[in-house]
Amino acid sequence: MNKLYVVGIGPGAAEDMTLRARAALDDASVIVGYTTYANLIRPLFPGKEYIVTGMRRETERCRAAVECAKAGRTAAIVSSGDAGVYGMAGLALEMAAGTGVEVEIVPGVTAALSGAARLGAPIGHDFAAISLSDLLTPWEKIEKRLTLAAEADFCLVLYNPASRRRTDALKRACEIVMRHASPDTVCGAVRNAGREGEETLVMTLRELASYTADMCTTVFIGNSQTKTVGSGIVTPRGYKDV
Ligand code: SAH
Repeated sequence: MNKLYVVGIGPGAAEDMTLRARAALDDASVIVGYTTYANLIRPLFPGKEYIVTGMRRETERCRAAVECAKAGRTAAIVSSGDAGVYGMAGLALEMAAGTGVEVEIVPGVTAALSGAARLGAPIGHDFAAISLSDLLTPWEKIEKRLTLAAEADFCLVLYNPASRRRTDALKRACEIVMRHASPDTVCGAVRNAGREGEETLVMTLRELASYTADMCTTVFIGNSQTKTVGSGIVTPRGYKDV
């Protein structure tokens, strides 16, 4: 059949996976993924062959998945969240082009959405998603995007706020945003959404600047209207009657 599914499995918990993602993984005979994500889904889909590689092996993983599909197997390559958001959907499409492999992209719940839901409604108005990883994007470009988004009063969702090597990116990002936004801006962080050790925190932008995020954290910076409601965060749409 020469079929390759590119599946976003959501943040981690089985109930956050779409029915379509489940059906695609049920249909596949071989599942290719990064070790952590493969381990998350293994119990749900036993009896499949798993091809697992470590971090930053995206090209290798895609190649393996395309090769399996080319050989006539139904393959699935999995990404956390959505495969089209800082994921491998683009790479898979490029690699499969001209090989006769049919690619189907199956959307998933991205960290901006799963994280937002855990905090309340922090991105209820216009928002920009920015990755702080300078692995594939020069830091100058990241700074420019932060600057202009903050100037335009967007809510911000920051992916990849830290890695083992990059420990000061979030602090630097907060300092840039504070040139245009109040240090009291309402912010939040969600760690390990839908996974063991899930944690949500609400804080000010000033506090966020000294918060230690890790690779499994998504950070939310409110706009000038964002407020706390109960223990959560709301960015109002502007309804007048509340
Ligand atoms: N394709 C993924 C994003 C991959 S980039 C998606 O759509 O969600 C990796 C970044 O995503 C992490 O650094 C973190 O910022 C965020 N992330 C992924 N899974 C997460 C989770 N379960 N909890 C919190 N943040 C998560």
